[in-house]
Amino acid sequence: MSEHYDVAIVGGGIAGLTAALYLAKGGKKVVILELQNQIGGRAITNEKDGIRFNLGFHALYAGVAYQIFNELQLNQNIFRKVNEFHPYGIWKEKLHYFPATADFLMRTKLLSAAEKVKFGALLMKILKLDTASMPKESLRSWMEENIQSPMVRHLLYVLIRGGTYIQAPDLHVAGPLFRQIQHSITGVYYLKQGWGSLVRELSQEAQRHGVELLTNRKVTSVDHRDGQVHSVICANEERIRVSQVLLTTSPKVTSKLVPLSEHTALKTWEEQAIPIKAACLDVGLRHLPSPRHQFVYGVDQPIMLINASRINGLELSEPNDVQVFQMIKFLNQDSDPKQDRQQLENALELVQPGWKQEVIAQQFLPRMTVVHDFMHMNRKENPGPDVPEIKGLYVAGDWASHGEYLVDGAAASAKRAAMSILAQ
Ligand SMILES: Cc1cc2nc3c(=O)[nH]c(=O)nc-3n(C[C@H](O)[C@H](O)[C@H](O)COP(=O)(O)OP(=O)(O)OC[C@H]3O[C@@H](n4cnc5c(N)ncnc54)[C@H](O)[C@@H]3O)c2cc1C
Repeated sequence: MSEHYDVAIVGGGIAGLTAALYLAKGGKKVVILELQNQIGGRAITNEKDGIRFNLGFHALYAGVAYQIFNELQLNQNIFRKVNEFHPYGIWKEKLHYFPATADFLMRTKLLSAAEKVKFGALLMKILKLDTASMPKESLRSWMEENIQSPMVRHLLYVLIRGGTYIQAPDLHVAGPLFRQIQHSITGVYYLKQGWGSLVRELSQEAQRHGVELLTNRKVTSVDHRDGQVHSVICANEERIRVSQVLLTTSPKVTSKLVPLSEHTALKTWEEQAIPIKAACLDVGLRHLPSPRHQFVYGVDQPIMLINASRINGLELSEPNDVQVFQMIKFLNQDSDPKQDRQQLENALELVQPGWKQEVIAQQFLPRMTVVHDFMHMNRKENPGPDVPEIKGLYVAGDWASHGEYLVDGAAASAKRAAMSILAQ
């Protein structure tokens, strides 16, 4: 291991890898220190019984992260645009056409004729919103001002939950979330062979530009004195002398790693963070009992189901008819893993009757943190990229978003941190 690094990055998820690549391209000598025995964080793909499983339901919206991956010149072959979209909705234990396409808006029985006109006009209005100049207001307040029909309002809430993974209308800030909805309406991508291929591409590119990737390296502390970073210390007592450190760990871990963090902005960022949790059930099926139903929103329950395998190539041996259904339940504070799993299984029975006879492999993740924070009404300030009190200390990660969602927050905050370091 070289001892002469310009920057140490703690955490080898999408944020750490993205920042490393920008920094290395900018001429910096970079090391990534990753706690786990593999790089990728929450974007890894695992193989089990002949199937590739992401860590739960994953889609890439045509937003900032996708632009950043293009700017970094990642191999375009890993991105697969979703061209066919025929969404259904579960309402009162029946499947309905979900009005997210013009065709299904005409056919759905979830809305009256007058409501259909209103819903269509509303989607057009959202597509054209100048989200940057919207005043700071909650989603609920925007909905109440702009939509009278309860069902139109309800279906829009469902669409927003599907695009942002967040169901908190009183906390959710309207402007950034509508920008995310604009992205999700304009394009959705899946990663061929799962999100692990994105991790692989980023890692290979980073290494090609000289980044050192060290796994099984638990960072325990950032040594700073006189308002300046001096080194990072690992669990094996290893000390890496470096004057610039980028932390991509969660707000809680980030605060813990920095002695006296209570006197810095890190304390505010940790205290204001509201994590978003989800239960995820993925199943590999020999074939689909009902090929028509590939994408399903829960209308009266906070769930979503999707067959991602036709585009993803999640089955290991090809060609065959194996399909991987990904299901997610958006959780509130209290959750019961047994009930959550049962609810997802019941929904799948409605969508793909007899699926249990077709199962090859499955994965249940009862309580995943989808993001550690988002742009909510109680946020005092946007985190990062610099920690103002300590020279040479930076943060990135999905929680350090300045209004971007999900992996967009991870990638955009990573780019902000890299640009700030390169500007020094
Ligand atoms: C169930 C689920 C569904 C999702 N669906 C989508 C989706 O559809 N679309 C989308 O855009 N995004 C989605 N996301 C979000 C996306 O996966 C994340 O935003 C992104 O992967 C976060 O990257 P990150 O680098 O910020 O954090 P992480 O991936 O968490 O990386 C942080 C890294 O830091 C490491 N670390 C922690 N402590 C230490 C330490 N002390 N020393 C060294 N290393 C340490 C961790 O091991 C980890 O690898 C989903 C997430 C989940 C969980």
